[in-house]
Amino acid sequence: MCVAENIEKIKQEIGEGVKLVAVTKIQPLDKVKAAYQAGHKIFGENKVQELTQKQAGLPNDIEWHMIGHLQTNKVKYIAPFVSLVHSIDRMKLLRTVNKEARKHKRVIPCLLQFHIAEEETKFGLSLEEAAEMLLSKDYQEMENIRIVGVMGMATFTGDEEKVRREFRHLREIYNKLKERFFSEQDDFRELSMGMTNDYPVALEEGSTLLRIGTAIFGERNTQSM
Ligand SMILES: *Cc1c(COP(=O)(O)O)cnc(C)c1O
Repeated sequence: MCVAENIEKIKQEIGEGVKLVAVTKIQPLDKVKAAYQAGHKIFGENKVQELTQKQAGLPNDIEWHMIGHLQTNKVKYIAPFVSLVHSIDRMKLLRTVNKEARKHKRVIPCLLQFHIAEEETKFGLSLEEAAEMLLSKDYQEMENIRIVGVMGMATFTGDEEKVRREFRHLREIYNKLKERFFSEQDDFRELSMGMTNDYPVALEEGSTLLRIGTAIFGERNTQSM
């Protein structure tokens, strides 16, 4: 199947109210262009350098999402254009995004990334760390970021019940934050969860943003990089 057909098929599965972020990392520009020509306008990258290169090579009516671990010294390269940062996992990063957004007179929407997988390697906050951030005076004075939801990655496993438990955990975190910190903020509504292998479960557990690469573009050819 071609890229356009893959996107069409997934869009039919997800229905209204859920957005599809087409993850273009390591994929060649011509495949990304095929998705764009099929009418898709939301793309995600996990590395700053690739994100800025692809952004420069494609039309500017695209929403670019940063979905991967982000170093503070690289925020400046994406601050002019990024539409959503999914991976806020520490206070220092949020502070830097706020500072760089201010230079461009922008308000950058952000998601707080939570550690929900049992695997050691995944980045992310705990609920306690997030609460500490949100209670700080520093955060309350930030005018150039807006937190609009949460993001998490489940364990990479075929064990569907385990994945489901992890997504449910993320939704509980979302609900707690909503109640305690964002009850007055209507646009705190995003639950970024679900990738190629686990998006059907993520949808059942209330995902609003799917981040899908392989099921759209095919396997990533790391050899050619
Ligand atoms: C690569 C990546 C995805 C997409 O992965 P697929 O399995 O190819 O769908 C989603 N989220 C993040 C953070 C990624 O790095």
